[in-house]
Amino acid sequence: MSIKAIRGFKDVLPEEIGWWQKVEGIAARILDNFGYKELRVPIVERTELFARSIGKETDIVEKEMYSFSDRHGESLTLRPEVTAGAVRALIEHNLAADGRPVKLYSIGPNFRYERPQKGRQRQFYQLNVEAYNVAQPYIDAELIILWTRILDGVGLKDIQMHINSLGCSSCRPQYNRKLQNFIKDRLETLCEDCRRRYQTNPLRVLDCKSRGCAETVQEAPLMLDELCSECGEHFQAVRKALASADVSYEVTPRLVRGLDYYTRTVFEAQTGKLGAQNAVGGGGRYDNLVKNLGGPDIAGIGFAMGLERLIMLLSEDQELNNPGPDLFMAFLDEAALELAFKLANGIRAEGFRVEMEYTPASLKSRMKRAGKLGAEWVLILGPEEMSRGNGILRNMSTSTQEEVSLDEAVTGIIKRLKGDKV
Ligand code: AMP
Repeated sequence: MSIKAIRGFKDVLPEEIGWWQKVEGIAARILDNFGYKELRVPIVERTELFARSIGKETDIVEKEMYSFSDRHGESLTLRPEVTAGAVRALIEHNLAADGRPVKLYSIGPNFRYERPQKGRQRQFYQLNVEAYNVAQPYIDAELIILWTRILDGVGLKDIQMHINSLGCSSCRPQYNRKLQNFIKDRLETLCEDCRRRYQTNPLRVLDCKSRGCAETVQEAPLMLDELCSECGEHFQAVRKALASADVSYEVTPRLVRGLDYYTRTVFEAQTGKLGAQNAVGGGGRYDNLVKNLGGPDIAGIGFAMGLERLIMLLSEDQELNNPGPDLFMAFLDEAALELAFKLANGIRAEGFRVEMEYTPASLKSRMKRAGKLGAEWVLILGPEEMSRGNGILRNMSTSTQEEVSLDEAVTGIIKRLKGDKV
Protein backbone atom coordinates (compact mmCIF):
# COMPACT_ATOMS: atom_id res chain seq x y z
CA MET A 1 0.00 0.00 0.00
CA SER A 2 1.28 3.48 -0.76
CA ILE A 3 2.04 5.92 2.03
CA LYS A 4 -0.31 8.86 2.42
CA ALA A 5 0.26 12.30 3.99
CA ILE A 6 -0.52 12.61 7.71
CA ARG A 7 -4.01 13.77 8.74
CA GLY A 8 -4.15 17.56 8.85
CA PHE A 9 -1.06 17.93 6.63
CA LYS A 10 -1.59 19.00 3.05
CA ASP A 11 0.39 19.18 -0.15
CA VAL A 12 0.29 22.42 -2.11
CA LEU A 13 0.05 21.18 -5.69
CA PRO A 14 1.47 22.90 -8.79
CA GLU A 15 -2.05 23.88 -9.91
CA GLU A 16 -2.57 25.80 -6.63
CA ILE A 17 0.87 27.28 -6.22
CA GLY A 18 -0.03 30.35 -8.27
CA TRP A 19 -2.24 31.53 -5.39
CA TRP A 20 0.61 31.20 -2.94
CA GLN A 21 3.07 32.97 -5.18
CA LYS A 22 0.58 35.76 -5.83
CA VAL A 23 -0.20 36.32 -2.15
CA GLU A 24 3.41 36.02 -1.01
CA GLY A 25 4.62 38.29 -3.82
CA ILE A 26 2.08 41.05 -3.11
CA ALA A 27 2.67 40.81 0.63
CA ALA A 28 6.46 41.00 0.21
CA ARG A 29 6.15 44.10 -2.00
CA ILE A 30 3.86 45.93 0.43
CA LEU A 31 5.99 44.91 3.41
CA ASP A 32 9.01 46.28 1.59
CA ASN A 33 7.14 49.58 1.05
CA PHE A 34 6.66 49.79 4.80
CA GLY A 35 10.30 48.89 5.57
CA TYR A 36 9.86 45.35 6.92
CA LYS A 37 12.67 42.83 6.37
CA GLU A 38 12.29 39.09 6.12
CA LEU A 39 13.46 36.94 9.03
CA ARG A 40 13.70 33.14 8.73
CA VAL A 41 13.75 31.33 12.03
CA PRO A 42 13.95 27.55 12.55
CA ILE A 43 10.84 25.38 12.52
CA VAL A 44 12.00 23.57 15.67
CA GLU A 45 12.78 25.29 18.97
CA ARG A 46 13.18 24.23 22.57
CA THR A 47 9.79 23.40 24.10
CA GLU A 48 10.47 25.75 26.98
CA LEU A 49 10.50 28.75 24.64
CA PHE A 50 6.85 28.22 23.71
CA ALA A 51 5.72 27.33 27.22
CA ARG A 52 7.28 30.54 28.52
CA SER A 53 6.04 32.87 25.79
CA ILE A 54 2.63 31.60 24.72
CA GLY A 55 1.56 30.77 28.27
CA LYS A 56 1.13 27.41 30.00
CA GLU A 57 -2.64 27.74 30.22
CA THR A 58 -3.38 28.23 26.56
CA ASP A 59 -4.92 25.67 24.24
CA ILE A 60 -1.72 25.66 22.25
CA VAL A 61 0.59 24.75 25.10
CA GLU A 62 -1.90 22.56 26.96
CA LYS A 63 -2.95 20.37 24.09
CA GLU A 64 -1.72 21.30 20.65
CA MET A 65 2.06 21.20 20.51
CA TYR A 66 4.06 18.67 18.55
CA SER A 67 6.73 18.05 21.17
CA PHE A 68 9.29 15.28 21.18
CA SER A 69 12.59 14.34 22.77
CA ASP A 70 15.60 14.37 20.51
CA ARG A 71 18.29 11.72 20.75
CA HIS A 72 19.84 13.47 23.73
CA GLY A 73 16.56 13.64 25.59
CA GLU A 74 16.06 17.37 25.03
CA SER A 75 12.43 18.41 24.63
CA LEU A 76 11.90 20.12 21.29
CA THR A 77 8.72 21.40 19.64
CA LEU A 78 7.63 22.08 16.07
CA ARG A 79 6.80 25.75 16.23
CA PRO A 80 3.08 26.40 16.80
CA GLU A 81 3.63 30.10 15.95
CA VAL A 82 6.50 32.32 14.91
CA THR A 83 6.66 35.18 17.40
CA ALA A 84 8.39 33.16 20.13
CA GLY A 85 11.19 32.16 17.74
CA ALA A 86 11.43 35.70 16.35
CA VAL A 87 11.86 37.12 19.87
CA ARG A 88 14.44 34.47 20.65
CA ALA A 89 16.36 35.48 17.50
CA LEU A 90 15.97 39.18 18.31
CA ILE A 91 17.55 38.63 21.73
CA GLU A 92 20.18 36.16 20.56
CA HIS A 93 21.44 38.45 17.77
CA ASN A 94 20.95 41.74 19.62
CA LEU A 95 18.80 43.04 16.79
CA ALA A 96 17.28 45.78 18.90
CA ALA A 97 20.53 46.99 20.45
CA ASP A 98 20.63 50.40 18.75
CA GLY A 99 17.24 51.44 20.10
CA ARG A 100 15.75 51.85 16.60
CA PRO A 101 12.62 50.13 15.32
CA VAL A 102 13.12 46.53 14.24
CA LYS A 103 10.52 45.55 11.64
CA LEU A 104 10.37 41.92 10.59
CA TYR A 105 8.23 39.48 8.69
CA SER A 106 8.30 35.79 7.96
CA ILE A 107 6.30 33.34 5.92
CA GLY A 108 6.29 29.67 6.79
CA PRO A 109 4.58 26.68 8.34
CA ASN A 110 3.41 26.21 11.91
CA PHE A 111 2.18 23.04 13.58
CA ARG A 112 -0.70 22.56 15.99
CA TYR A 113 -2.38 19.32 16.95
CA GLU A 114 -5.95 20.52 16.41
CA ARG A 115 -8.93 18.68 14.98
CA PRO A 116 -8.67 19.16 11.21
CA GLN A 117 -11.67 20.76 9.49
CA LYS A 118 -12.36 23.41 6.87
CA GLY A 119 -9.82 26.19 7.42
CA ARG A 120 -8.05 24.26 10.14
CA GLN A 121 -5.04 22.04 9.57
CA ARG A 122 -2.27 20.62 11.68
CA GLN A 123 0.36 22.17 9.46
CA PHE A 124 -0.63 25.63 8.27
CA TYR A 125 1.21 28.59 6.84
CA GLN A 126 1.23 32.06 8.28
CA LEU A 127 2.46 35.44 7.25
CA ASN A 128 3.86 36.86 10.43
CA VAL A 129 4.69 40.56 10.76
CA GLU A 130 6.20 42.21 13.81
CA ALA A 131 7.79 45.42 15.04
CA TYR A 132 9.96 45.93 18.12
CA ASN A 133 11.28 48.93 19.97
CA VAL A 134 8.33 51.18 19.13
CA ALA A 135 6.10 52.10 22.06
CA GLN A 136 4.14 54.76 20.17
CA PRO A 137 0.58 53.95 19.09
CA TYR A 138 1.48 54.84 15.49
CA ILE A 139 3.09 51.45 15.05
CA ASP A 140 -0.14 49.69 16.11
CA ALA A 141 -1.90 51.67 13.39
CA GLU A 142 0.94 51.07 10.91
CA LEU A 143 0.56 47.31 11.23
CA ILE A 144 -3.20 47.45 10.81
CA ILE A 145 -2.87 49.77 7.80
CA LEU A 146 -0.20 47.58 6.26
CA TRP A 147 -2.32 44.49 6.78
CA THR A 148 -5.33 46.19 5.23
CA ARG A 149 -3.17 47.10 2.23
CA ILE A 150 -2.16 43.47 1.83
CA LEU A 151 -5.78 42.30 2.01
CA ASP A 152 -6.78 44.97 -0.54
CA GLY A 153 -3.72 44.20 -2.65
CA VAL A 154 -4.64 40.53 -3.08
CA GLY A 155 -8.24 41.55 -3.75
CA LEU A 156 -9.90 40.06 -0.67
CA LYS A 157 -13.36 41.45 -0.04
CA ASP A 158 -15.76 41.35 2.90
CA ILE A 159 -13.11 41.40 5.58
CA GLN A 160 -13.75 43.27 8.78
CA MET A 161 -10.98 44.50 11.05
CA HIS A 162 -11.81 44.35 14.77
CA ILE A 163 -9.78 46.08 17.45
CA ASN A 164 -9.76 46.14 21.22
CA SER A 165 -7.45 46.94 24.11
CA LEU A 166 -6.50 44.43 26.80
CA GLY A 167 -4.87 47.01 29.07
CA CYS A 168 -1.53 46.61 30.77
CA SER A 169 -0.06 45.23 33.97
CA SER A 170 -1.39 48.19 35.93
CA CYS A 171 -5.06 48.03 34.85
CA ARG A 172 -5.59 44.43 33.78
CA PRO A 173 -5.24 42.74 37.22
CA GLN A 174 -8.09 44.87 38.55
CA TYR A 175 -10.24 44.01 35.55
CA ASN A 176 -9.33 40.32 35.90
CA ARG A 177 -10.66 40.35 39.45
CA LYS A 178 -13.90 41.95 38.29
CA LEU A 179 -14.25 39.37 35.55
CA GLN A 180 -13.47 36.52 37.95
CA ASN A 181 -16.17 37.69 40.32
CA PHE A 182 -18.63 37.83 37.45
CA ILE A 183 -17.67 34.33 36.28
CA LYS A 184 -17.63 32.82 39.79
CA ASP A 185 -21.39 33.34 40.06
CA ARG A 186 -22.01 31.60 36.74
CA LEU A 187 -19.59 28.69 36.86
CA GLU A 188 -22.19 26.05 36.06
CA THR A 189 -22.76 27.58 32.60
CA LEU A 190 -19.09 27.26 31.61
CA CYS A 191 -17.21 24.46 29.90
CA GLU A 192 -14.78 22.35 31.88
CA ASP A 193 -11.68 24.14 30.59
CA CYS A 194 -13.03 27.55 31.57
CA ARG A 195 -14.15 26.42 35.01
CA ARG A 196 -10.57 25.46 35.65
CA ARG A 197 -8.90 28.36 33.83
CA TYR A 198 -10.92 31.32 35.01
CA GLN A 199 -8.97 31.59 38.27
CA THR A 200 -5.56 31.99 36.66
CA ASN A 201 -6.57 33.31 33.27
CA PRO A 202 -10.10 34.73 33.16
CA LEU A 203 -9.62 36.41 29.75
CA ARG A 204 -9.57 32.95 28.17
CA VAL A 205 -13.26 32.61 29.00
CA LEU A 206 -14.08 35.58 26.74
CA ASP A 207 -12.33 33.75 23.90
CA CYS A 208 -13.95 30.35 24.46
CA LYS A 209 -15.93 29.03 21.51
CA SER A 210 -18.23 26.75 23.53
CA ARG A 211 -21.82 27.98 23.52
CA GLY A 212 -22.36 28.21 27.26
CA CYS A 213 -19.25 30.31 27.74
CA ALA A 214 -20.00 32.55 24.75
CA GLU A 215 -23.52 33.25 26.04
CA THR A 216 -22.41 33.83 29.60
CA VAL A 217 -19.80 36.43 28.74
CA GLN A 218 -22.28 38.57 26.81
CA GLU A 219 -22.98 40.41 30.05
CA ALA A 220 -19.43 40.31 31.41
CA PRO A 221 -17.62 43.54 32.39
CA LEU A 222 -15.45 44.97 29.62
CA MET A 223 -11.74 45.72 29.72
CA LEU A 224 -12.35 48.87 27.66
CA ASP A 225 -14.30 50.34 30.60
CA GLU A 226 -11.43 49.61 32.99
CA LEU A 227 -8.40 50.89 31.06
CA CYS A 228 -5.94 53.06 32.99
CA SER A 229 -5.43 56.54 31.57
CA GLU A 230 -2.24 55.60 29.66
CA CYS A 231 -3.90 52.60 28.03
CA GLY A 232 -7.01 54.67 27.26
CA GLU A 233 -4.92 57.37 25.58
CA HIS A 234 -2.93 54.80 23.67
CA PHE A 235 -6.12 53.23 22.33
CA GLN A 236 -7.56 56.59 21.28
CA ALA A 237 -4.31 57.48 19.53
CA VAL A 238 -4.38 54.20 17.59
CA ARG A 239 -7.93 54.99 16.48
CA LYS A 240 -6.96 58.50 15.41
CA ALA A 241 -4.00 57.22 13.39
CA LEU A 242 -6.21 54.62 11.70
CA ALA A 243 -8.72 57.30 10.81
CA SER A 244 -5.96 59.37 9.18
CA ALA A 245 -5.36 56.48 6.77
CA ASP A 246 -9.08 55.92 6.13
CA VAL A 247 -8.92 52.38 7.44
CA SER A 248 -12.27 51.08 8.55
CA TYR A 249 -12.53 48.91 11.65
CA GLU A 250 -14.88 48.02 14.45
CA VAL A 251 -14.18 48.30 18.15
CA THR A 252 -15.04 44.86 19.57
CA PRO A 253 -14.81 44.97 23.35
CA ARG A 254 -14.88 41.19 23.86
CA LEU A 255 -12.05 40.53 21.44
CA VAL A 256 -9.20 38.74 23.16
CA ARG A 257 -6.53 36.52 21.69
CA GLY A 258 -5.69 32.87 22.26
CA LEU A 259 -2.15 33.59 23.45
CA ASP A 260 -1.27 35.02 26.83
CA TYR A 261 1.38 37.54 25.93
CA TYR A 262 -0.77 40.35 24.55
CA THR A 263 -1.03 43.80 26.14
CA ARG A 264 -3.00 46.88 25.07
CA THR A 265 -4.04 46.80 21.41
CA VAL A 266 -5.30 43.53 19.94
CA PHE A 267 -6.81 43.18 16.49
CA GLU A 268 -8.28 40.51 14.30
CA ALA A 269 -9.37 40.33 10.65
CA GLN A 270 -12.59 38.36 10.36
CA THR A 271 -14.78 37.02 7.58
CA GLY A 272 -18.29 35.63 7.60
CA LYS A 273 -17.38 33.08 4.94
CA LEU A 274 -15.36 30.41 6.74
CA GLY A 275 -17.89 29.10 9.23
CA ALA A 276 -16.44 28.64 12.70
CA GLN A 277 -12.94 29.56 11.52
CA ASN A 278 -13.86 33.21 11.05
CA ALA A 279 -10.45 34.71 11.81
CA VAL A 280 -8.20 35.26 8.85
CA GLY A 281 -5.59 36.42 11.29
CA GLY A 282 -4.95 38.34 14.43
CA GLY A 283 -2.38 40.12 16.45
CA GLY A 284 -1.61 42.70 19.04
CA ARG A 285 0.93 44.34 21.25
CA TYR A 286 3.22 42.29 23.49
CA ASP A 287 5.24 44.82 25.42
CA ASN A 288 6.44 42.37 28.09
CA LEU A 289 7.37 39.43 25.91
CA VAL A 290 10.95 40.33 25.06
CA LYS A 291 11.75 41.04 28.70
CA ASN A 292 9.99 37.87 29.85
CA LEU A 293 12.13 35.82 27.50
CA GLY A 294 15.30 37.28 28.98
CA GLY A 295 15.84 40.22 26.61
CA PRO A 296 15.76 43.99 27.03
CA ASP A 297 12.61 45.76 28.18
CA ILE A 298 11.34 46.81 24.75
CA ALA A 299 7.94 47.05 23.14
CA GLY A 300 6.72 44.50 20.63
CA ILE A 301 3.68 44.17 18.39
CA GLY A 302 2.70 41.92 15.51
CA PHE A 303 0.10 39.94 13.67
CA ALA A 304 -0.19 36.56 11.97
CA MET A 305 -2.43 35.77 9.04
CA GLY A 306 -3.32 32.21 7.99
CA LEU A 307 -2.44 31.75 4.33
CA GLU A 308 -4.65 28.68 3.69
CA ARG A 309 -7.67 30.62 4.90
CA LEU A 310 -6.75 33.66 2.86
CA ILE A 311 -6.25 31.56 -0.28
CA MET A 312 -9.47 29.64 0.33
CA LEU A 313 -11.36 32.93 0.38
CA LEU A 314 -9.58 34.30 -2.68
CA SER A 315 -10.17 31.19 -4.76
CA GLU A 316 -13.89 31.44 -4.05
CA ASP A 317 -14.26 34.65 -6.01
CA GLN A 318 -11.21 35.02 -8.21
CA GLU A 319 -9.80 33.12 -11.15
CA LEU A 320 -6.13 32.34 -10.97
CA ASN A 321 -4.19 33.94 -13.77
CA ASN A 322 -1.99 31.05 -14.84
CA PRO A 323 -0.13 32.12 -17.99
CA GLY A 324 1.00 29.44 -20.43
CA PRO A 325 4.41 29.33 -22.12
CA ASP A 326 5.43 32.04 -24.56
CA LEU A 327 6.52 29.39 -27.02
CA PHE A 328 5.86 25.70 -27.51
CA MET A 329 8.31 23.67 -29.62
CA ALA A 330 6.46 21.46 -32.09
CA PHE A 331 9.18 19.28 -33.57
CA LEU A 332 7.68 16.52 -35.62
CA ASP A 333 10.35 13.86 -35.94
CA GLU A 334 13.47 12.60 -34.25
CA ALA A 335 15.68 14.46 -36.77
CA ALA A 336 14.45 17.84 -35.50
CA LEU A 337 14.84 17.06 -31.79
CA GLU A 338 18.44 18.21 -31.46
CA LEU A 339 17.78 21.54 -33.14
CA ALA A 340 14.54 22.08 -31.21
CA PHE A 341 16.39 21.47 -27.95
CA LYS A 342 19.12 23.95 -28.85
CA LEU A 343 16.64 26.62 -29.96
CA ALA A 344 14.47 26.17 -26.87
CA ASN A 345 17.41 26.75 -24.55
CA GLY A 346 18.61 29.72 -26.59
CA ILE A 347 15.20 31.39 -26.38
CA ARG A 348 14.82 30.57 -22.66
CA ALA A 349 18.17 32.24 -22.06
CA GLU A 350 16.60 35.44 -23.40
CA GLY A 351 13.99 35.34 -20.66
CA PHE A 352 11.06 33.63 -22.43
CA ARG A 353 9.04 30.71 -21.13
CA VAL A 354 9.60 27.89 -23.58
CA GLU A 355 8.06 24.46 -23.21
CA MET A 356 9.06 21.32 -25.04
CA GLU A 357 8.49 17.61 -24.69
CA TYR A 358 10.96 15.01 -25.91
CA THR A 359 8.97 12.21 -27.49
CA PRO A 360 8.16 12.58 -31.19
CA ALA A 361 4.51 13.32 -31.95
CA SER A 362 2.29 14.32 -34.85
CA LEU A 363 1.55 17.96 -35.66
CA LYS A 364 -2.04 17.46 -34.58
CA SER A 365 -1.12 16.20 -31.14
CA ARG A 366 1.53 18.92 -30.71
CA MET A 367 -0.99 21.65 -31.53
CA LYS A 368 -3.48 20.14 -29.14
CA ARG A 369 -0.89 20.12 -26.39
CA ALA A 370 0.16 23.72 -27.16
CA GLY A 371 -3.49 24.77 -26.89
CA LYS A 372 -3.93 22.94 -23.62
CA LEU A 373 -0.85 24.63 -22.14
CA GLY A 374 -2.09 28.01 -23.34
CA ALA A 375 1.06 28.68 -25.41
CA GLU A 376 1.10 32.02 -27.19
CA TRP A 377 3.32 30.89 -30.02
CA VAL A 378 4.29 27.53 -31.53
CA LEU A 379 7.44 26.84 -33.50
CA ILE A 380 6.73 24.01 -35.93
CA LEU A 381 9.79 22.09 -37.08
CA GLY A 382 8.60 19.72 -39.81
CA PRO A 383 10.71 18.07 -42.52
CA GLU A 384 9.34 20.19 -45.37
CA GLU A 385 10.16 23.67 -44.06
CA MET A 386 13.33 22.38 -42.42
CA SER A 387 14.57 21.25 -45.84
CA ARG A 388 14.36 24.93 -46.81
CA GLY A 389 16.30 25.84 -43.62
CA ASN A 390 13.10 27.23 -42.07
CA GLY A 391 10.58 26.61 -39.34
CA ILE A 392 6.99 27.86 -39.01
CA LEU A 393 6.15 30.28 -36.26
CA ARG A 394 2.45 30.26 -35.46
CA ASN A 395 0.66 32.81 -33.36
CA MET A 396 -1.99 30.91 -31.41
CA SER A 397 -4.27 33.82 -30.67
CA THR A 398 -4.47 35.20 -34.24
CA SER A 399 -4.04 31.77 -35.91
CA THR A 400 -1.56 33.32 -38.35
CA GLN A 401 1.81 31.87 -39.19
CA GLU A 402 4.94 32.57 -41.16
CA GLU A 403 8.14 30.82 -42.08
CA VAL A 404 11.22 31.90 -40.17
CA SER A 405 14.81 31.18 -41.02
CA LEU A 406 16.46 28.70 -38.70
CA ASP A 407 19.90 30.23 -39.27
CA GLU A 408 19.01 33.32 -37.36
CA ALA A 409 16.35 31.44 -35.48
CA VAL A 410 16.86 32.62 -31.94
CA THR A 411 17.13 36.31 -32.80
CA GLY A 412 14.39 36.18 -35.41
CA ILE A 413 11.98 34.34 -33.18
CA ILE A 414 12.70 36.56 -30.22
CA LYS A 415 11.97 39.64 -32.28
CA ARG A 416 8.60 38.22 -33.21
CA LEU A 417 7.81 37.07 -29.67
CA LYS A 418 8.51 40.59 -28.50
CA GLY A 419 6.24 41.96 -31.22
CA ASP A 420 9.08 43.78 -33.03
CA LYS A 421 8.91 44.29 -36.78
CA VAL A 422 11.25 41.92 -38.60
P1 AMP B 1 -3.11 32.58 15.90
O1 AMP B 1 -1.63 32.35 15.76
O2 AMP B 1 -3.80 31.48 16.64
O3 AMP B 1 -3.46 33.94 16.34
O4 AMP B 1 -3.70 32.44 14.43
C1 AMP B 1 -3.56 33.44 13.46
C2 AMP B 1 -4.17 32.95 12.18
O5 AMP B 1 -3.51 31.78 11.73
C3 AMP B 1 -5.62 32.49 12.31
O6 AMP B 1 -6.48 33.56 12.24
C4 AMP B 1 -5.75 31.57 11.13
O7 AMP B 1 -5.95 32.28 9.94
C5 AMP B 1 -4.41 30.91 11.09
N1 AMP B 1 -4.48 29.63 11.79
C6 AMP B 1 -4.30 29.38 13.10
N2 AMP B 1 -4.43 28.07 13.37
C7 AMP B 1 -4.68 27.46 12.19
C8 AMP B 1 -4.90 26.12 11.78
N3 AMP B 1 -4.86 25.12 12.66
N4 AMP B 1 -5.15 25.87 10.47
C9 AMP B 1 -5.18 26.87 9.58
N5 AMP B 1 -4.97 28.15 9.89
C10 AMP B 1 -4.72 28.45 11.17
